[in-house]
Amino acid sequence: MKMMDRRRLMVENQIKRRGIYSEELLAAFIKVERHLFVPEDLQHLAYEDSPLKIGGGQTISQPYIVALMLELLELKKSDRVLEIGTGSGYQTALLAELAEAVFTVERIETLLLRAKKLLTELGYRNVNYLIGDGTQGWKGGEPQCDKFDKIIVSAAAPEIPESLIQQLGENGIMVIPAGSQFSQDLIVIKRSNDELITSNHGGCTFVPLIGKEGWRA
Ligand code: SAM
Repeated sequence: MKMMDRRRLMVENQIKRRGIYSEELLAAFIKVERHLFVPEDLQHLAYEDSPLKIGGGQTISQPYIVALMLELLELKKSDRVLEIGTGSGYQTALLAELAEAVFTVERIETLLLRAKKLLTELGYRNVNYLIGDGTQGWKGGEPQCDKFDKIIVSAAAPEIPESLIQQLGENGIMVIPAGSQFSQDLIVIKRSNDELITSNHGGCTFVPLIGKEGWRA
């Protein structure tokens, strides 16, 4: 079966069937070629309902969990999005399709450089990259930016990093898995009139968020 057909099946069976219907979101999942973001020997598994290894002990997340997190972010075309945990760059590409600008941070240099090369080759010009500790947000990144409309964290935090809360703008939304190193809850934090409203969207399992306001290496 052609990759395009596998991608359509992935969207139909894994994402739509589980209750995600946003047309823009589904169109982005059909457009972005997940198989390009995984190692060559795993490309035949790229449209399966599972995470996959991408090197450095890290994973590209299961497509459905990415879709759920993006839906919870309530993305708008005008949004500036901070992404912590670039990994393969797959979710970065989806964000770049759905928002105005993406600011992505990855602590493993080889992963960030590989993702940057691929995203640049694919023509994404609205992505800014930073190698560093994403628990500190966009600290030291270029161009400078200290408030974001949306923040998405793709690694599991022991607690919500205070630095990320500080960088969440008015009416902003953050999606972050938080809990132990072995299982977490998907937490949504909304800032409204300088109040933080938190909701829990069920269990999930992510690799650990390692850094000053995360887990120790
Ligand atoms: N969303 C990614 C994708 O589409 O491939 C997958 C992200 S992977 C599940 C989590 C990533 O978070 C890993 O690449 C890991 O190195 C990174 N990470 C962990 N702690 C981090 C930190 N403090 N700052 C930045 N990245 C971090």
